[in-house]
Amino acid sequence: MDVGFNPQAAYLLTDSRQISFPEQSIFFAIKGDRHDGHLFLHDLYQSGVREFVVEEASWSDSLRQGTAGWSDAKIWVVPSSIKALQELVSERRKQFNIPVVGIAGSNGKTIVKEWLVQLMAPGQRIVASPKSYNSQIGVPLSVWNLNKEHTLAIFEAGISQAHEMEYLQPVMQPTIGIFTNIGPAHDNGFRSRKQKITEKLRLFTKVKKLIYRKDYKDIDEEIDLILRPVNPFLQTISWGSSNSGADIRVTYQSKKDNTVISLIGKSGAFNFETGFRDQASLENLTHCIVFMLDFGIASKVIQDRILLLKPVSMRLELKEGINHCYIIDDAYNNDLNGLSMALNFLSQQEQRQKKTIILSDVLQSGQTPNELYGMVSKLLKEKALNRLIGVGPQISSQANLFDISEQEFFLDTESFLKEFPFNTLSDCVILVKGARPFSFEKIVHRIQQKAHGTVLEINLDALVHNLNYYRSKIGRKTKIMVMVKAFAYGSGSAEVAALLQYHRVDYLGVAYADEGVALRQSGITLPVMVMNATLPAFDLLWEYKLEPELYSRRMLSDWLSYILKKNDAANAPSVHLKLDTGMHRLGFEEDDYDWLISQLQQNPALRVSSIFSHLVGADEGIHNEFSKNQYQQFVKGAGLLEKALGYSTLKHILNSAGIVRFPDYRLDMVRLGIGLYGVEATGQEQYALQSVGSLKTIVSQIKYLSSGETVGYSRSGQITHDSAIATLAIGYADGYDRGLGNGIGKILVNGTLCPTIGNVCMDMTMVDVTGAKVEEGDEVIIFGKELPITELAKSIHTIPYEILTGIGDRVKRIFYKE
Ligand SMILES: *Cc1c(COP(=O)(O)O)cnc(C)c1O
Repeated sequence: MDVGFNPQAAYLLTDSRQISFPEQSIFFAIKGDRHDGHLFLHDLYQSGVREFVVEEASWSDSLRQGTAGWSDAKIWVVPSSIKALQELVSERRKQFNIPVVGIAGSNGKTIVKEWLVQLMAPGQRIVASPKSYNSQIGVPLSVWNLNKEHTLAIFEAGISQAHEMEYLQPVMQPTIGIFTNIGPAHDNGFRSRKQKITEKLRLFTKVKKLIYRKDYKDIDEEIDLILRPVNPFLQTISWGSSNSGADIRVTYQSKKDNTVISLIGKSGAFNFETGFRDQASLENLTHCIVFMLDFGIASKVIQDRILLLKPVSMRLELKEGINHCYIIDDAYNNDLNGLSMALNFLSQQEQRQKKTIILSDVLQSGQTPNELYGMVSKLLKEKALNRLIGVGPQISSQANLFDISEQEFFLDTESFLKEFPFNTLSDCVILVKGARPFSFEKIVHRIQQKAHGTVLEINLDALVHNLNYYRSKIGRKTKIMVMVKAFAYGSGSAEVAALLQYHRVDYLGVAYADEGVALRQSGITLPVMVMNATLPAFDLLWEYKLEPELYSRRMLSDWLSYILKKNDAANAPSVHLKLDTGMHRLGFEEDDYDWLISQLQQNPALRVSSIFSHLVGADEGIHNEFSKNQYQQFVKGAGLLEKALGYSTLKHILNSAGIVRFPDYRLDMVRLGIGLYGVEATGQEQYALQSVGSLKTIVSQIKYLSSGETVGYSRSGQITHDSAIATLAIGYADGYDRGLGNGIGKILVNGTLCPTIGNVCMDMTMVDVTGAKVEEGDEVIIFGKELPITELAKSIHTIPYEILTGIGDRVKRIFYKE
């Protein structure tokens, strides 16, 4: 693209919330199904951004007028912002002449990339994709980080549709390819598995070398059929099992504590030892070994480095810490990109005002320590950190570059652990960000709150996926209220609400005033509807700007006299009117309408922001007629009230199931509940949602019992043959229903489904693990991705809602991002 972008622009920005250095950034306004970057131009201009790329189709008259006075800004109008971004980066990529490794394939891309970075780091200055930045936007943003000091680049590319790889090839221009593998399924977005392979191969149309595993016959065939004709000088390096005909024959021999990988090829025979044992890790590692051998690294050196390899955790975890702190655990790598992402996540956490970082030396190539820590200092300043604890010789030696109100430095992790006054860490969010050699997991271990063994893990990425799924169903015109009542369906209201606020939902809904207060106290500023507020709670509603649902003559009169007494109508929270159209729980009925209308007309102090009702059987086809009737009654009633008010209000009737089953009833807003948490109540579209919560516990003890013995209270667990019985650290006080005892409930331990035996106790449950591979201390899954909560609910004739909201307070919630 031939536009003269600011040559000083150092940062490309596609998410208006992740801004770090506004004056040096170009913002690309991207219009997606759910987000539209064009809506945020003004905010960005306010924050100091002066260069924008916008799309012709979105460049409306009002935008044009709104930005007309920005004489100091540049605005480029292009057909597609993503294409412009890709073209800009592809131009820049041409300036570099170093080996660039491009990784594609169904699984393992990020692991292979992270491992190669670890394995190749000594002796190279490496630039790599941060986390799994491998999309149409992620790849250009990764490649943009290339600079003239780098000696090796390692990027990954993922696609979800045909033709996408064609665009990524010129952006990345890899010189060496690694095709990790191909999964058995053929995904949406591709006609067939073959097509998926040929599309992925387009990343390699100009590579000099391609490493792949020949055991994947389809990959091998398509390389010959599709890739060679367009890349005739391609050198392939294939590896595979002894009879695969590959250039390098590989065998795995598993020993007691390790695995020996043997490779035999033209250049010799090699054996490597590794502590990894599972198939996927061994495959990923073999790709790395083949790459390193070809790169000319001595086998002895490879062996030494492999033994230092650590498993890759892509998870960024949010945990509860000591002294009311929250901890963001990112103790696995530390470069500038990763740091900037983690800081963004930190600034999303509204639960605590104060923000602290424990930061190791930053591993970055190509800059003097002075430049590098100058940048780090600026980043910390931009994100308004309150406290910096630097750990490492480099960061300590640059201490004078930092200007944070509280800062201290330690030469290494051990001296930090020994000397640091841990009681000074309280009521704050702590980002723990360290490169691997610093073993920051020891720090996390020291400051995290200890669990009693049972945890509910919440996958924040899955939550966002589910939110976006419903958003794309309802389209942009319908607003979304998310129900976070009952501790966000057991998942943790402060954390879930902070994420929803970040993702700009329109409203939150809670059941009681106290729940709303808790949200406000954790920094939530979104409008909040309270469904069941009572007279004693009105002061809280007023103080915390929470909006009550008015559902009866009595309730409306109480509220009205309360606000009239306050005599400050301008500051009164607005209200929501609930109409009863058939649920017969709360709500005004038809014969209340005349009274309601006269009240509303006489009391303009009552500002109504929405009118709503609730379907009784949105999830079941047999109630379709009834639902339709409810809808019609609602529209009629709401219409009357609106007319009487003389202004329009939001109208809403659909819950999660309704969104799926009644696209015509969406009106102005929907109320999303259980679907956000990964359960599609109608079952019709469960495939489209991701599992959010996993309830896990551990095995406390294993006993070997013989026929005739019994287990637990009342001797109800009868042993009929020699059995192994495991005691789990979960009981009905944690939400493991007593009805799940005596074989009704089943848990998953190391891949084996095991039934309960005997009665569930308050804090413990026994399961029959005969024949399963299990040791004391092993993790056990109660429900999660592998063991759906819907099955668990069904076995005791209840619904997932009850299971989720019944999970006890003492079960620690752990939040993570992939
Ligand atoms: C809880 C609740 C919802 C959400 O219901 P789901 O079935 O979880 O989607 C919607 N509206 C009202 C009034 C609710 O109480």
